[in-house]
Amino acid sequence: MQHQIRARTIKNAMTSIPLPLYVAFFFFFGGALILNLFHRYQNKQRALPARDLYLSAHQLAEPVCHVCGSARLAERGLTHGADERRIFSCLDCKSMLFQDHHAATAEEVSA
Ligand SMILES: [Zn+2]
Repeated sequence: MQHQIRARTIKNAMTSIPLPLYVAFFFFFGGALILNLFHRYQNKQRALPARDLYLSAHQLAEPVCHVCGSARLAERGLTHGADERRIFSCLDCKSMLFQDHHAATAEEVSA
C-alpha cells in the first residue's frame, strides 16, 4: 500500500513538468553542444602552422598537401569570407594544412 502511493507520487511529479520546459532544455543543451564543437573546430584552425613553417616542416618548395601530395588546395577565411586569416586545406583528402595572413581577393569573398 505504502509502496503503491510512492510510485504514484513519482509518476505525478514526472508528468507535471510542462512540455515547453523539456523543449527549452533540449534546445539549450543542443545549442551549447553545437557552439562547443564549433569552438573546437576554430581553435584547431587557429593552431595551424603559418605557411613558411608548414613548408619548412615538410620540406616542400610549393604549398601542396603533405598527407596525399595533392596541389589542389582550398582557401577560405577563418571566421568569414573576407577574413584576412586564411585557412588552407586539401581538396582531395580534406586535411587542414596551414594558415596565412593576407586580405582576401574579391573572387574569394564571393566564393
Ligand atoms: Zn591531401
